[in-house]
Amino acid sequence: MILVTHAVVGAAIVAAMPNHPVLGITLAFASHFAMDTIPHWDYKIYSDSINPKVGGKKISLNKYLALDAVRIGGDVALGFLLGYLFFFNSGKPWLCFAGELAAMIPDFLQVVYTRFPTFPPLAQLQRFHKWIHAKKRLYEPVSGALYQVAIIAAVIFIAKKFIN
Ligand SMILES: [Zn+2]
Repeated sequence: MILVTHAVVGAAIVAAMPNHPVLGITLAFASHFAMDTIPHWDYKIYSDSINPKVGGKKISLNKYLALDAVRIGGDVALGFLLGYLFFFNSGKPWLCFAGELAAMIPDFLQVVYTRFPTFPPLAQLQRFHKWIHAKKRLYEPVSGALYQVAIIAAVIFIAKKFIN
């Protein structure tokens, strides 16, 4: 899933249980893996130095890394924003952001894993992430992106019925 989708789900989860922040943040983290089981499209990562599928390459500052930084940065920023706009209800902005971050962070841990592949929790987490991730992938970017928009809309619609 793109990070926007994960962030919106994370924000919805912590908003559903504002008085149980630890549980909410834990479930937001877990939601990443649940969402990844749904077959989906992901945008390509151009820079080998941050692509978990390549792994372990030295960071090289080039146009690919710049392109990734813009796209991933935009994805993260939009995720924080949309989750906040739709689900901030607790009076605690940090909780909303923590839920969003917890739901997005497994994908960043994949990159950290490529640097420290034998570090115990990362290695197990990476194996689990790969195992649970949908094997069926959608390759067509336009319909793939629209499909994620539909998933985000469905999450917002369903979550709004239960929250507030
Ligand atoms: Zn993932």
